[in-house]
Amino acid sequence: MGLSGGSGPDGAVPDLGCAVCQIQAALHTGDDPLIHRSGPWLLRHHPHPSPLVGWLLLDARRHVPGPDAFDDAEAAGFGPMLRRSSALLKQLVGCERVYAIAFGEGARHFHLHLIPRHGAASDTESWRVADLYRAVASGSRPPADPAAVASFLCRARACCASW
Ligand SMILES: [Zn+2]
Repeated sequence: MGLSGGSGPDGAVPDLGCAVCQIQAALHTGDDPLIHRSGPWLLRHHPHPSPLVGWLLLDARRHVPGPDAFDDAEAAGFGPMLRRSSALLKQLVGCERVYAIAFGEGARHFHLHLIPRHGAASDTESWRVADLYRAVASGSRPPADPAAVASFLCRARACCASW
């Protein structure tokens, strides 16, 4: 199987060298960053250390590098999942907007960063959010409070129960 290999979400063939496949393989509902899994899409919180409470990732469950390689089910499900996930984030953290960014550099497996943009927090504005990300990753700024992330996860899972 190449990068677009796999046989669908439930029979997906993980790429053992892929960080996103490894994270997905280790997810079990309840005590980890998993929020929701639906068809070809999976919504999770950024692992610890997370730059912000509510920094989410919308993953393709299949090891697929980008939107140009989506199959029909992934393409059809993407819009509804993106809309619901963004609305959930706004509702739960009270942010004004949600950034949606996919680079695909850390892993060639489509994972869309959904980032809360708070009007009062200038360090979440535009590309400054990348500086914040690097500062937290390097340890020069503290990550989001794990207890606040856990509380977010609880509320997010409750909201998603009806999806
Ligand atoms: Zn992968």
